[in-house]
Amino acid sequence: MGILIKGKPVADKITEDVKSEVRNLNSSGIQPKLQIIRVGEREDDIAYERGALKRMAKCGILTGVKTLPIDISQDDFIEQIKLSNSDETVHGILIFRPLPKQLDESIIKYIVDPNKDIDCFNPVNVAKVTEGDKTGFAPCTPSAVMEILDYYDVDLTGKNVVVLGRSMVVGKPQALLMLQKNATVTICHSKTKNLSEVASKADVLVAAIGKAKLVLKEFVKEDAVVIDVGINVDDEGKLCGDVRTDECLEIASMVTPVPAGVGSVTTSVLAKHVVRACKSLIK
Ligand code: NAP
Repeated sequence: MGILIKGKPVADKITEDVKSEVRNLNSSGIQPKLQIIRVGEREDDIAYERGALKRMAKCGILTGVKTLPIDISQDDFIEQIKLSNSDETVHGILIFRPLPKQLDESIIKYIVDPNKDIDCFNPVNVAKVTEGDKTGFAPCTPSAVMEILDYYDVDLTGKNVVVLGRSMVVGKPQALLMLQKNATVTICHSKTKNLSEVASKADVLVAAIGKAKLVLKEFVKEDAVVIDVGINVDDEGKLCGDVRTDECLEIASMVTPVPAGVGSVTTSVLAKHVVRACKSLIK
């Protein structure tokens, strides 16, 4: 029987480290600040924003929130990003995605200053993550997964990692971060044949597909580590991940829960990235 590995101790550890870095910056008269840019009132954006505001306050990081109308024009939206780019009191910029249809993401992603782009929106950061250039900012969620594996002493060298999902926000950057830790990585997606068979070869299985409880115990190799990134609602209206946690725990050595797993570490990584951006901007 495996164990549930929770996000809270990981988040607490990162928070303590960030707090101490913020105190050091404060003693030199520097105050790190995150600027959140949100278009409209999507429930999941607001829920994440609430968590981020709480975490930043805990860390001593200032946060500004720009709430923009859902029908904002592309020019006005770009203007708002440029204002945050040039604002010297702002060190990190978080733009909630997906954006409404009238805003062309393929243009907008180039506008946010890569040095303040703490959640990997700008292709400059995507390229840096691909190259393994440590000055880039990887997206916060796959970075949170790496923090969890590190905290629970899961060495990835030579391990078979299978990532379920190939989005730009989770799956692809996750695979690259695993590769940088010398894992042998397989990426699966909706067209993958024999998904459970491929998954069952993994020493570390990351589920990021957004399908409630799709990962059954047949997907899991004996003693594997299972990381559940999914956030879904089940038939009873309850929050759940992509993994059937209880049955997979019978086979795996460790499984992250949902809620209280990866999601609870993401805002701490966001805080860590703001402080890193701040330190490199003031150099
Ligand atoms: P996404 O953009 O919808 O991507 C889903 C990926 O899963 C796609 O690559 C898709 O394949 C693949 N997929 C879908 N159904 C599949 C199936 N039946 N078998 C195999 N692959 C399948 O989602 P996302 O933004 O990456 O998010 C994934 C999940 O993570 C969601 O539940 C989301 O809510 C959650 N999430 C959590 C956090 C956190 O902080 N914990 C942060 C972000 C996202 P194709 O490419 O072929 O379509």
